[in-house]
Amino acid sequence: MLKLGYHVSISGGISNAFDYSKEINCTTMQIFIGSPRIWSVQKISTEEKNKFLIKSKNTKIEPVFVHMPYLPNLASPKEDVYKKSVETLSIIVKECAALKIEYVVVHLGSGLGEGKEKAIDRVVNAVSSVKSEKNGVFVLLENQAGQKNSVGSTLEDLKEIYDKIHSSEVGFCIDTCHLFAAGYDVRKTETAKLIDDKLGFENIKLIHLNDAKYELGSGRDRHECIGLGNIGIDGFKSFFSYKKFLGLNFILETPHSSKEQELNELKTVREILL
Ligand SMILES: [Zn+2]
Ligand SMILES: [Zn+2]
Repeated sequence: MLKLGYHVSISGGISNAFDYSKEINCTTMQIFIGSPRIWSVQKISTEEKNKFLIKSKNTKIEPVFVHMPYLPNLASPKEDVYKKSVETLSIIVKECAALKIEYVVVHLGSGLGEGKEKAIDRVVNAVSSVKSEKNGVFVLLENQAGQKNSVGSTLEDLKEIYDKIHSSEVGFCIDTCHLFAAGYDVRKTETAKLIDDKLGFENIKLIHLNDAKYELGSGRDRHECIGLGNIGIDGFKSFFSYKKFLGLNFILETPHSSKEQELNELKTVREILL
């Protein structure tokens, strides 16, 4: 069965995400727990947690992915920001354990010009400290779009970070738009093979399936709807002719304003992947 879903809204309570995903016939989903643009992670009530657990069982939409909010920066050279970022990740991972959510997707942040190796060390320390104890929640390192000072835009950097963390509860999330923006030509099957070789298929738990608004190597993180960007339907078809990847989980983070658009896009994606 194809594991396909959207990043969905949690408006009105995190458990509502299951209802919408079910409505659009999705088999997996991604959510934020709390607002992505504020620092504090709001407490989720026991009642809402129970609702979430019940709907998780009833809808069988799994796995669920939680995306880290945007403000934390696990590579920040600013001590206070770094500390707050690690705390935020730690709280989110604990909340996920309580909600029986298996995966948290993290952006690796920006070293703000202080040098790549130091930035990588900070990310490694941050994730290692959170994952010093096993609790069944994987931290997935997401590749970035090649923005200036960003950490983890190359497969080599991602692998270095992964190896240094040395935890069985760490894996990768690969975003196709970010790959393309960072200069990896997603329109080629060889790129899929390269990712497999460099990262190890068994460590890849999720594909963020997004088309790219800007050209190859633009360094800009701007998603486009599938088929409307620079990767395009043929580009995706060629990438996923590397069949091994078809068994992975797929989450769309494309810019949409209506359910109808999403349903159309899901149809397009199924045509590409099935
Ligand atoms: Zn992504
Ligand atoms: Zn992005």
